[in-house]
Amino acid sequence: MSPKIDVGVLGATGMVGQQFIARLANHPWFNLSWLAASERSEGKSYADAAPWRLATPMPDACREMRVDGCVPGRGPTVVFSALDAKAADELEAQFAAAGHIVLSNARSFRMDPLVPLLIPEVNADHLDILEEQRRVKGWSGGIVTNPNCATVVLAMALAPLRQFGIRRVLVTTMQAVSGAGYPGVASLDILGNIIPFIGGGEEEKIESETLKILGGDGGRTPLDSVISAQVNRVPVIDGHSMTVSVELASRPDAEAVAAAMRSFRGQPQALQLPTAPDPAILVMDEINRPQPRLDADRGGGMTVCVGRIRACPVLTHKFVALGHNTIRGAAGASVLNAELMHAKELLVN
Ligand code: NAP
Repeated sequence: MSPKIDVGVLGATGMVGQQFIARLANHPWFNLSWLAASERSEGKSYADAAPWRLATPMPDACREMRVDGCVPGRGPTVVFSALDAKAADELEAQFAAAGHIVLSNARSFRMDPLVPLLIPEVNADHLDILEEQRRVKGWSGGIVTNPNCATVVLAMALAPLRQFGIRRVLVTTMQAVSGAGYPGVASLDILGNIIPFIGGGEEEKIESETLKILGGDGGRTPLDSVISAQVNRVPVIDGHSMTVSVELASRPDAEAVAAAMRSFRGQPQALQLPTAPDPAILVMDEINRPQPRLDADRGGGMTVCVGRIRACPVLTHKFVALGHNTIRGAAGASVLNAELMHAKELLVN
């Protein structure tokens, strides 16, 4: 058996950083050897620096690890980034220039035409752009990003429908509070309430990222379609839900839409990557599913659940979709990206 690849985590103390640690602690291919965060945490033991908020216990191997500063060149070649977006703006490019392969959750480079915005089941071919990224940017390492936590759910649900010609999409999201990091939204604002706004350009991110992911030429030619997104923060802990209406050029019936989603498989399933969910999309027949409390953890939080596929009197079809925002929408997505890259021999140690 080949030795495990050393990996590190930038922003290891935050909400997404903790999910990385939980997913990497016993990974069959990766050895978590380096943790880094801001000056506030540097020099402390991980147990002292990170206010652990996952239901599973902090892995023993991490408790006494010293948190390092985010200094390019210090960690292993492969680093996962759960950095705050402002910090990621500068640091991720510095790490890539210093020879690190950065698997990022932050928004900073997602729409860069030379950076893959990857969902392994949907657009594995976008990794082909890495060679050009290195050449043009002069980086000896590289950056690969994963989508916004709501985008990934929409893009996964739409991917099997590309064959029918996706013309127009209306999406309304109901997004969990964990999507705002910790401490996130004040309890007095969100308990018993819905907030019809999420900052940071959330609606624009869902619209533009989805078209890049479903597009061609490594993401440089967006899908020729139009998406309108409306977002809401709701009092749910984990799991972003959304209602979607889609206009499809070839007007398939609802059974054909459900069948396309049910049979959807990608490279992670074909290659049997360690954290690949199977099925990638779970089509639920129950009239009142999916629900975040019952279904967000399907497939270890990596499955996207879809239900209520039916005719739409305005567009062609409508349905409900759900995904775990800090797993499929963040750390789990990055780890699956790294597994695909390792299987394609694109990670070096
Ligand atoms: P968070 O809980 O606020 O954690 C931010 C992390 O960044 C902490 O480890 C923090 O370290 C570190 N950090 C902040 N400023 C830094 C600096 N100047 N230098 C080095 N490290 C710095 O945020 P989060 O919710 O985990 O989100 C992390 C990233 O993932 C963000 O870019 C976010 O947009 C993205 N994302 C989040 C979700 C989600 O569902 N939460 C989903 C998809 C993507 P200290 O603890 O030392 O301050």
